[in-house]
Order: sequence, then structure tokens, then C-alpha cells
Amino acid sequence: MANKPERSKFMSNKQMSVGDPLESRCTKCRKITNHLIVAMTDGKPAKVECNTCKGQHKYRHPVVRKKAAPRRTVDPKLAEREEWEKLRPSLENKQAIVYSMTTAFKVGSVMKHPVFGLGVVLNSLGLGKVEVLFEAGKKKMRCL
Ligand SMILES: [Zn+2]
Repeated sequence: MANKPERSKFMSNKQMSVGDPLESRCTKCRKITNHLIVAMTDGKPAKVECNTCKGQHKYRHPVVRKKAAPRRTVDPKLAEREEWEKLRPSLENKQAIVYSMTTAFKVGSVMKHPVFGLGVVLNSLGLGKVEVLFEAGKKKMRCL
């Protein structure tokens, strides 16, 4: 007794080849029907035969609606926030220096600011300015 070939639910995961069943839009039937692959091009079905009308035609993907690809824009604020989250555990073990414009801050120092809270000095910008990463993002702070 021959088993009826079951349609795999994971068709997209396996390599397709000539003779495999797949769904395609059929121009004669004017709907999505089951087809068999007749010819392959670049690992994709190129020509298919409709199981319903036995007509052969170019493969047409049955999914008409295109899903909009999620746009991955890098939010600089988010990147700074992530950087902060990574640094935060190490900040709590360090001696924080209370911010004042008359205090000198070295790169790597932990600053405690009355408004922005804990921050780490990332860069010395010269001319009495340092770049500090706070939870709210990077800020340029005046110091000695
Ligand atoms: Zn057809």
C-alpha cells in the first residue's frame, strides 16, 4: 500500500527540486493551485505544471501581498542607552566624583551630576570640556 505523499509544512526549509509539489498562481485557473516544479533556475522554481489544468507556465509566488521589511535604523540615543546599560554595573563600584565646573575629570572617571545622575567620562575634549555618558545620553560638560 503506497502512502499518499504528504505536503511538508516546512517546504521553505528544504531545497526544492524538479518534481516537487508547490503552490503557485495559475493563469488559467486564475487562482492559487498545487503545481509540480518542471524547471529550476538558480535554486528557485522557474517553470511549473498546474495539477488542476495541467498547463505549464512560469512560477508565480502565491503570496501577493508583500510584507514591508522592518526598517533597522540605528537610533543614536538608543545606542548610547545600551552603552550606558553596559557600563552601569561597573560605575556602581567606583568612587563617583560630584560634578562641579572647578573639578578636573579624567577619562574613565565616574561623575555624579545633580541632574543627570551617574555618568562616565568618555573623552576629554580639551578647553575644559569632557564628554560624559549619562543614562540620558552623551553630554558635554565643563570642568577644569
Ligand atoms: Zn491551472
